[in-house]
Amino acid sequence: MRHLYVNGSWTPSTSGEVVDVINPATEEVIDQVPAGTPSDVAAAVDAAHAAFIPWSATSPADRGKLLADAAALLRERADQIATTIATDMGAPYSLALKVQTLMPAGVLESCADMAEGLVAESRVGNSLILREPAGVVGAITPWNYPLHQAVCKVAAALAAGCTVVLKPSEVAPLAAYALADVLHDAGLPAGVFNLISGYGPVVGEALAGHPLVDVVSFTGSTRAGRRVAALAAESVKRVALELGGKSANIILPDADLEKAVASGVSHAYVNSGQTCSALTRMLVHWDQYDDAVALAVAAARTFTVGDPFAEGTRLGPLVSAAQRDRVIRYINTGQEEGARLVTGGTDYPLERGYYVEPTVFAGVAPGMTIEQEEIFGPVLSIVPFGSEDEAVAIANGTPYGLAGAVWAGSEERAVSVARRLRTGQVSINGGRFNALAPFGGYKQSGIGRELGEPGLAEFLEIKALQL
Ligand code: NAD
Repeated sequence: MRHLYVNGSWTPSTSGEVVDVINPATEEVIDQVPAGTPSDVAAAVDAAHAAFIPWSATSPADRGKLLADAAALLRERADQIATTIATDMGAPYSLALKVQTLMPAGVLESCADMAEGLVAESRVGNSLILREPAGVVGAITPWNYPLHQAVCKVAAALAAGCTVVLKPSEVAPLAAYALADVLHDAGLPAGVFNLISGYGPVVGEALAGHPLVDVVSFTGSTRAGRRVAALAAESVKRVALELGGKSANIILPDADLEKAVASGVSHAYVNSGQTCSALTRMLVHWDQYDDAVALAVAAARTFTVGDPFAEGTRLGPLVSAAQRDRVIRYINTGQEEGARLVTGGTDYPLERGYYVEPTVFAGVAPGMTIEQEEIFGPVLSIVPFGSEDEAVAIANGTPYGLAGAVWAGSEERAVSVARRLRTGQVSINGGRFNALAPFGGYKQSGIGRELGEPGLAEFLEIKALQL
């Protein structure tokens, strides 16, 4: 039986109740974590509050050294942690290793560097400007990149000199336990990091509303993010929200169509489509529409569905039965609203496990449900456009603004279109994800940024001394 991590030790929850952890490939219960309570949250926040004064007084260089040690431990344990993530959330092992485990190790390293390079003082006129740790951070994270999302918050907060209470998703919580072990073994002082597992409306709400929490950093759905922001407003906390997306991949007529479509399909399906920045809408000019659909169907069919540990698997199961059923409902809605299902669909590809076929819809019109709402499964919508202006309008035509991509004959043209997109990240002609660049959303995709210097700034307060 696992415990909560409070004030440097593993402590039983006051509830005695547990949350089952299910392997989505086998549908079997593989572990249990405590269902934390508001009093567990209060104990963790008290520990973080008490630890704040000494931790915030440590030098940024010392904090950086500790984070670098934690990153080294994470790399040493990468195989074991990737196995855990492949088992409790269903990512294919190679993705679980490279993206879900080694990328967060890189984020820890970059936060170590940022701590060491932190410019905590500057001068303007007769003022000395101090950047100080913001206090106790309540971090609430989702299940889709369970280690990465936690590390983005925890490492930046610790680098800034904040203390943390982390509430991971109840759906795939085991990576957060591995992170607690890593931080403990790296020698983080008691109380600086605390872990309370459990349900959002209980543990998450207690954390978001706790008067001694100074900053709430939330990643998850827009629905839960709204609730967290409302609770945090009661005590005027600083809030960072990383929410959902419905990102567009604009393929202009002078782009390399084959390359753009193949890359676009991969970026729609990565992690079985359970990626906030997934490029779920492919926007293609009418003149190339039929060719693009044929290329997308061919690419989709190369995404072998199967066991996360099997050689050649490109699509693991969705994380839960609820998520699988939600995606199936969207596929049905797409057909009911007149979109053309060109591959995939609602059949279960394997007898056991929460799998969904790699699915492509053609003939998707702006305003259809599958064009507007985040599906969070391997479902790509291909939307035709007639002009660059129309493509930009469609791309900007949802409540979200998290990511996007533009493919064009030249970088210059792609960049000029990217400048018109109301979204936090844009990949230009296949530009790779960069974990050093700030990440976050416009509009209902969120408030604030993670990663890079802006990600660190979320956890710093500013004081001006007039000399
Ligand atoms: P979710 O909103 O259901 O849960 C996220 C976290 O919030 C979990 O820990 C959950 O327990 C907690 N929570 C739920 N209700 C809460 C409440 N009332 N008060 C406080 N906490 C609450 O999201 P999910 O299903 O775990 O994750 C998928 C969503 O996350 C998608 O919408 C995806 O786009 C988004 N996401 C965004 C980013 C980003 O960086 N923008 C990254 C990953 C995932």
